[in-house]
Amino acid sequence: MTSDATQPTTAFCQHDHNHCIDSAMAQARHLCQQRGVRLTPIRQRVLELVWQSHQPLGAYTLLGLLAEEGFNSAPPTIYRALEFLQHEGLIHKLASINAFTGCCNPGTPHEGHFFLCLSCHQALEIDTSTLQHSLQNSAGKHGFSIAQQTIEITGCCAQCQSKQNTENHG
Ligand SMILES: [Zn+2]
Ligand SMILES: [Zn+2]
Ligand SMILES: [Zn+2]
Repeated sequence: MTSDATQPTTAFCQHDHNHCIDSAMAQARHLCQQRGVRLTPIRQRVLELVWQSHQPLGAYTLLGLLAEEGFNSAPPTIYRALEFLQHEGLIHKLASINAFTGCCNPGTPHEGHFFLCLSCHQALEIDTSTLQHSLQNSAGKHGFSIAQQTIEITGCCAQCQSKQNTENHG
């Protein structure tokens, strides 16, 4: 079986997003089974909702969506589901915008590093293992113990840049 993990992530460009959702859900089911943890209906639905696009979703947006679908959407239920998904590495929390996004490579433990487009609000998870190593080196030099190292880099994606150029010249 070839793994999707080796392919570049596809936020910021035209792609079949259903493929992202299918592959994320299949990976989640597989990992939970392997680890002997339960992907309950609410956990699964929260993960699907987070994956509905590459725009990270806040807990309150999720609460609203689940309430519409008739789930028991009491905040503690959803926070527990989000905590579970985060703990299993299936989603990342983006602290700067207080929102959650699906992880593209949940089988391998890693810190989340993201490009966030300020225009379309999509997040692209990037592979920065070399950056992570140099951060760990500097932390070691200073005797600093890193608790959390999610990195969120804001900017403008190529699609939005070309849209803005067309608007400026049109
Ligand atoms: Zn996608
Ligand atoms: Zn990830
Ligand atoms: Zn954009």
